Amino acid sequence: MYDTADVTIIGGGPIGLFGLYCAGLYRLKARLIERLDRLGGQLEYLYPEKPIYDVGGFPEISARELVERLKQQAFQYPAEVVTGVTATRVFVNEHGYNIETNKGLFPSRVVVITAGIGEFLPRRFGRAEIDRFEGRGLYYVVNQLRDFERQRVLVVGGGDSAADWAMAVADRAEHVTMIHRRETFQCHPDSLVKLQHHPRVSLWTNRAIHHILGDDMVQGVVLQTADGQVLPEPLAVDRIIVAIGLIPGTDIFRQWDLDFDGHEIRVATDMHTNRPGIFAAGDIVTYPGKVKLIAAGFGEVATAIEAARRYLETAVSTNA
Ligand SMILES: Cc1cc2nc3c(=O)[nH]c(=O)nc-3n(C[C@H](O)[C@H](O)[C@H](O)COP(=O)(O)OP(=O)(O)OC[C@H]3O[C@@H](n4cnc5c(N)ncnc54)[C@H](O)[C@@H]3O)c2cc1C
Repeated sequence: MYDTADVTIIGGGPIGLFGLYCAGLYRLKARLIERLDRLGGQLEYLYPEKPIYDVGGFPEISARELVERLKQQAFQYPAEVVTGVTATRVFVNEHGYNIETNKGLFPSRVVVITAGIGEFLPRRFGRAEIDRFEGRGLYYVVNQLRDFERQRVLVVGGGDSAADWAMAVADRAEHVTMIHRRETFQCHPDSLVKLQHHPRVSLWTNRAIHHILGDDMVQGVVLQTADGQVLPEPLAVDRIIVAIGLIPGTDIFRQWDLDFDGHEIRVATDMHTNRPGIFAAGDIVTYPGKVKLIAAGFGEVATAIEAARRYLETAVSTNA
């Protein structure tokens, strides 16, 4: 059995790490639980080399560098960080909660959930004839940008992730074609303008992959329109990045009697969930106007930790 922490943060992504720093500011006895063996969440596991442009104070920073800086900032204060530990359930105890994990019980007075999208499950085509090219030129996760050096790249998807990947590889690739099955791209207008003006990028709407050409490696694609018309001319490509979304994997928290809206936990303006002493922040939460951005999550977790501190003070004065 572990000691009782003041605050236990569940999830060591960017928002959990910044939360750990905020807990340090208040000198709270903090613990962070992360299910994977490395910290950094989506940044570390899904896009370590991608540049990030929309975090205050950094005109451009790679995801991995941002994680390193968040760790530096958080580890200024003593904190217990346990990796390879998955929080599964929570039970009320005399001090607050016992968090049940695969490595035993972790008692804590308050809990802050920053578990993001839970597991990282990129949405796949689910068509064997396409998915068989994964690792052979087809990427659902990009770990190193050098794979795209002087390659002809196809990026599939119309949202921010797809646009970010197209921008990240555009300067090193021979050419980038970005396709989206809808009539318009949904990414930030600024990304769209930059891509439209990039000399080595082509943007095509109303296009989807019909099938991939190649025996062992990707050599090209045959495209189709949204109404299923197959285009006669194949497109020669060497690499395909698929950015059609992530499957939320937060179901483990459904057993916690939390108020869910879809795959996210509903929170009040102070990031309190419906359960006393359980707060949440980052991609896992929802409220009117929520945006899933790192910058937004930083503000939320600062609010959550401040609310947790006030909650702890009230609990002490009530018990006194
Ligand atoms: C390709 C891509 C590009 C992106 N680019 C940008 C960008 O440029 N700018 C931007 O602002 N945002 C971007 N985002 C979104 C950004 O990554 C997320 O908003 C951010 O990661 C959310 O942080 P988080 O800490 O809430 O969650 P996550 O990063 O998902 O981290 C949550 C952590 O909790 C852990 N966890 C989950 N369940 C448990 C459990 N039960 N027990 C213990 N640990 C658990 C997970 O393993 C994970 O490490 C991008 C996302 C993608 C996929």
